[in-house]
Parts: sequence; C-alpha cells; structure tokens
Amino acid sequence: MLTRRELVHLLTVHGDEQEELFAEARRVRDRVFGPRVVVRGVTELNNVCRVNCEYCPMRRENTRENEAFHLTADELVESARRVHDAGVDVVFFQAGEVPQTTAPVSEAIPRVREIFDGRVEVLLNLGNKRRDEYERLREAGATSYILKHETSDPALNLAMRHESLDSRLNHMRALLDLGFKVGTGGIVGLPGQSVESIADDILLATDLGVHMCSFSPFVPAPGTPLEHSARGSSEVTLNAIALSRIVNPGWLVPSVSALEKTTGGGQLRGFLAGANVMTVNFTLPVHSDRYLIYGKDRFVVRRDYARELLRRVDLEPAGSVFLDEQPARAVPGPATGTR
Ligand code: SF4
Repeated sequence: MLTRRELVHLLTVHGDEQEELFAEARRVRDRVFGPRVVVRGVTELNNVCRVNCEYCPMRRENTRENEAFHLTADELVESARRVHDAGVDVVFFQAGEVPQTTAPVSEAIPRVREIFDGRVEVLLNLGNKRRDEYERLREAGATSYILKHETSDPALNLAMRHESLDSRLNHMRALLDLGFKVGTGGIVGLPGQSVESIADDILLATDLGVHMCSFSPFVPAPGTPLEHSARGSSEVTLNAIALSRIVNPGWLVPSVSALEKTTGGGQLRGFLAGANVMTVNFTLPVHSDRYLIYGKDRFVVRRDYARELLRRVDLEPAGSVFLDEQPARAVPGPATGTR
C-alpha cells in the first residue's frame, strides 16, 4: 500500500518516472485480468437533472423542457438489443438524476436479461435514489451501479455539487450493502482542488471497498459557471489511473472519452496507464446529441473507434467480470463465468 505522501508525489511525476509508473500499472493489470479490456455499451436515457453541479451542462438551471428527452422502457430494451447484437454483455444505462428513471429502467431490466439469457451485467448510473428504489432495481436484475464521489474534499464537493459528500458516501454504502458492484470516481483539476485531495480520492475509494473507480480530467463546458476555468491536467489524470490500478489491482478502471477531448491520443494513453474498461455509445445519435453531460462537442466513442483503439494498444475486447454476481431473484443464467 502506498502512503498518502507517496501518492501525492506519484500523481505529479512525468518523463521516465511516469513511464515506469505506467509500466508497473500495466504489469498489475495484465497479471490480474490478462491483456483484456471490459467493453460496456451505454445508452443515455434522458438529458435532465435535478442537481445543479457547477461543471455540468446538464445541470438543473440548464434544463429546457422543450429539448428534453426521456427514453421509455421499450426504447431501452431496443437499445440493449443493439448492444447484444454487437457482442457486448455489459448493458449500461446512464441518466441525469431524476426520480422518473426508476420505473422505466426497472421495467426494462428483466426484458434485457431475457435477451441475453441472463448472461449480462446490467450497470446503472442514475444518480442518488431512495433505498427502496435501489432495492427495486436490484431485484429487477441490476448488477452494478456507478455513483461517483467526484472529489473527496468535503468543502469543494459542496461548492461544486451543492450537496454534501457524506450524503453521497451514504448512498454508495447503501448500494454496497444491497449487493451491487459499485463504481466511484473523481474529477481531476476542479478549480481549487489540491493534489493531496486527489490522493485522498484513491484512499477514500479504497476504504469504501468499491469495485470500480474512474478518473476524468475536468473539462470546462460552455453554459456552466466554470466555462472560463482552466481545464484539468490529463497527465495527473493518467497518473491517478495508474495509481488506482496499482493500489487496487482488482478494480475496473476505465479510460474515459474525456481524456481524448483534453489531449489527442489521451484515451489510448489511459490503457497504457493500466486502465481496463472502455465504454462504447449505443445511444441513437438523435438523442446523444442532446445528452449534454460533457458538453455539446463531447467525444462520443462508437464501435469502430473502440475496436481500432484496442488493436493499437494490443488489448482484446472482453466481457463482464460480474456475470456470476447476480441478485438472487434475477433471471438466472448458466453457472459458468468468463473468469
Ligand atoms: Fe446532474 Fe450528474 Fe450533471 Fe451533476 S454531473 S448536474 S448530478 S448529470
């Protein structure tokens, strides 16, 4: 286990020291997972949010009802069918935080599981919900849930999200308690953020006992209070990815599309830094153009790009690592797993 002091130092290395860090992270990843990358197929199911995060174009104050979209359960199932037909077994539903997502997603999940004969990971990123809603989603057959803490600095978290870090952490604990595989993550380079707090992001996620952790560079988005702030460092983000891998060898750690937006080739370097997850977008373009969480000109990962990127880093696309971790009442699949 690295100390906080060592983490702080390693978050800022560059040159040869950074290359050594990345090489060690790749060794750890390949030892635990082999040269493989879990591919997720994401569908974005709305473009509205009740929260008002300072950095997010989808924040409450930007909601325009005439431009809003909300996918129905039928549309979610159709999208999951496209994910299935592409040979991807992680169906990922992502949305802004509003209570209206619970019903269509709960209705869709058992039908999605049928399409895959139960051999599917249903991953959700729907924001904070009540515990009974988490239970409903879990009982419907959801496997995993991403709820990012964004920053471990309580004051900065409150300033950025207008909600308390403690409350967010309690939601994550509830998800873990209900048997979800849980993912968290942080934003690197928020205005006023210290390197020490990024080290704390890794330590906090480790203490929580999550299964997945992502780091994304802060991208100042037009139409937000932070649009004129400096963007986050992709180098520190890549170092955070490498350190996440080294500190928690079994974590799923994505190389996110925001890395590509901050630096050309950034997403490829995420895999060189030990990442082992990639998300491909299956939202129909008519909707994804209006899903503004990373801004209008976000980088959308489609299948051909993902295939080519993984070929360039000599990694194979792979399936879910959680197929044998389904809730008791979900549609059962065959007993054997991929790993
Ligand atoms: Fe909502 Fe998430 Fe955007 Fe915050 S970051 S405003 S919770 S969609």
